Amino acid sequence: MKPSKKLEKNLEAKVKQTIKKYKLCNKEEKIIVAVSGGKDSTTVACLLYKFGYNIELFHINLKIGDYSEKCLDAVKTLSKLLNVKLHIYDIKKEMGSGMCYLRTAIQTKSKLKTKLKNCAICGVIKKWILNKEARKLKADKIATGHNLDDEAQTFLMNIFKGSPQLSANTGPVTRNLPDKKAKFTPRIKPLFYVAENNIKEYSKLKNLPVVYEKCPCALDSYRIQVRKFVNTLTETEKQNIMKNFDSLIKRIEKIKDTRIEYCEVCGEPARNKVCKKCNLVKA
Ligand code: AMP
Ligand code: ZN
Repeated sequence: MKPSKKLEKNLEAKVKQTIKKYKLCNKEEKIIVAVSGGKDSTTVACLLYKFGYNIELFHINLKIGDYSEKCLDAVKTLSKLLNVKLHIYDIKKEMGSGMCYLRTAIQTKSKLKTKLKNCAICGVIKKWILNKEARKLKADKIATGHNLDDEAQTFLMNIFKGSPQLSANTGPVTRNLPDKKAKFTPRIKPLFYVAENNIKEYSKLKNLPVVYEKCPCALDSYRIQVRKFVNTLTETEKQNIMKNFDSLIKRIEKIKDTRIEYCEVCGEPARNKVCKKCNLVKA
């Protein structure tokens, strides 16, 4: 078998297996795929579509200059290619300004000694938007493009912070129960066990409409430092990180906190009285 055919077969089988093993979704559900225009989320959308799931695309236009324009073009092309609906959330129209401005305002106001990282702020705001908008669209699930490398980095970052228990809230599916007000849309990560370089190869092989350049704001992220470190490890060492993750998850899952509170400020689901996004905005 040609190496490209083998990669395609293996990747698709791995994703199918993850969906089945963790019961990520079924064909009756409406799945909103959060597409950034990057290789991972574009691949997720194509695979879920190929496997016959009921998907719609959701894109947040972060208004980060040229970069966001390219991402917007890519997701529009994807929507046409698959002939599936694309919902666009324009951050400037909805929240008053682009991500760069929102983020700088938060960083300037913050009284914390260490500067809040660009990606951390952007990540919290994107998650908040995604949950709120997916609920409006009556989605059963939100699918994201998080891959094996992302998850290994997150796991290590939590260890370096001295808080491995934070990893309990990750996994191929985030289900928080009980959610009395039905405000939380479960998030699924079909690429949880697929390595980043394989996704890159797959997306190139399939000629998918993808923006390969990195976000220009992702400069000072702690994750980038961890990624550099992870890249120096051997393949076996990387796999061993995930072996630790798998066994830790099994143990922590039994005691993990699945309670949901509702933010006093915006009403969205939260772990505490005020959600992470409102905490940042008022900081
Ligand atoms: P990131 O936070 O950039 O690591 O992205 C993680 C996942 O969030 C991606 O794989 C996408 O599924 C989703 N995502 C990131 N950026 C956007 C965006 N601008 N619009 C919609 N979804 C996004
Ligand atoms: Zn809030």
